[in-house]
Amino acid sequence: MINNIYIIGVGLIGGSLALDIKNKRPDITVYGIDKSEQHLIEALELNVIDAKATLDDLDKADLVILSVPVDAAVELLPKVLDKVSDFGLVVDVGSTKLDICKVVENHFKRRNFLAMHPIAGTEFSGPKAAILDLFQHKTNIICEVEKTAFKLQEKALNLFSEIGMRMRYMNPEAHDKHIAYMSHLSHISAFMLGKTVIEKEKNERDIFDMAGSGFESTVRLAKSSPAMWTPIFKQNKENVIETLEGYIANLTQFKNMMKNDDFEGVYNEMKDTNYIKQILNGLK
Ligand code: NAP
Repeated sequence: MINNIYIIGVGLIGGSLALDIKNKRPDITVYGIDKSEQHLIEALELNVIDAKATLDDLDKADLVILSVPVDAAVELLPKVLDKVSDFGLVVDVGSTKLDICKVVENHFKRRNFLAMHPIAGTEFSGPKAAILDLFQHKTNIICEVEKTAFKLQEKALNLFSEIGMRMRYMNPEAHDKHIAYMSHLSHISAFMLGKTVIEKEKNERDIFDMAGSGFESTVRLAKSSPAMWTPIFKQNKENVIETLEGYIANLTQFKNMMKNDDFEGVYNEMKDTNYIKQILNGLK
């Protein structure tokens, strides 16, 4: 039975989880812990959390959700696990999974930890970015489920199913490799697209007037927080570099076809890539 939840990091993901859980299980009390006092005040005002708490309260926790940037998560997780009772479960929601799983692999309370990555989000941060139903029909990747005490994982996974997520199971190495392609590369691509346009189009009015041409939707992820993404790229450096090498090779090939007036090649390249429509339609 989950009577209380302590969310560490009451931002987009922690806050959205809080909203969904409070919506489905109004009997659960949600406490917030954050290094930003301002974010705690906002989370209280927005009813994202019911009350503030501190790390010293975690011995009373049924469930702790660690939702801070991944560098902070690696540092905090062993300390948080030290504090929870034998009946408390800690889950993290970080976008990388290998470093977080490694840092507690020999922790005496490893069975009180569940590693997960909800594949949902937006480009915004902080408690004001929290939205209801963010996790509806979204995938939640669970890593090393066999290392978590069965009774503890069961109650947490039931709760995450209740707010609309479907669970998928993966080892942390596979998670980090696949997510580098599916998420991390898209963010770098958006950041560098934004940079290229800002460098060239010195007149902001021109960018504003012409942004409707597909630019705005393609560059959306470039609004994301560097404080969150830098540690993700650092932790997943090898996999991300591999994706970049493939991407840069494709960009170079495309440029060379243009230079060589190989527009049949350009056409075929795009035609082949239209296959993405079928793949994405399969998701709906
Ligand atoms: P966010 O909106 O920036 O929220 C993170 C919150 O944690 C902020 O209030 C931040 O305060 C606080 N914080 C940072 N370091 C802390 C520490 N050491 N102790 C306590 N609080 C701390 O970030 P988010 O987008 O929710 O991301 C949280 C986690 O979810 C990350 O691990 C990320 O990889 C993962 N995730 C994100 C997405 C996404 O699309 N955004 C999707 C899935 C998973 P300050 O702002 O003052 O630093």
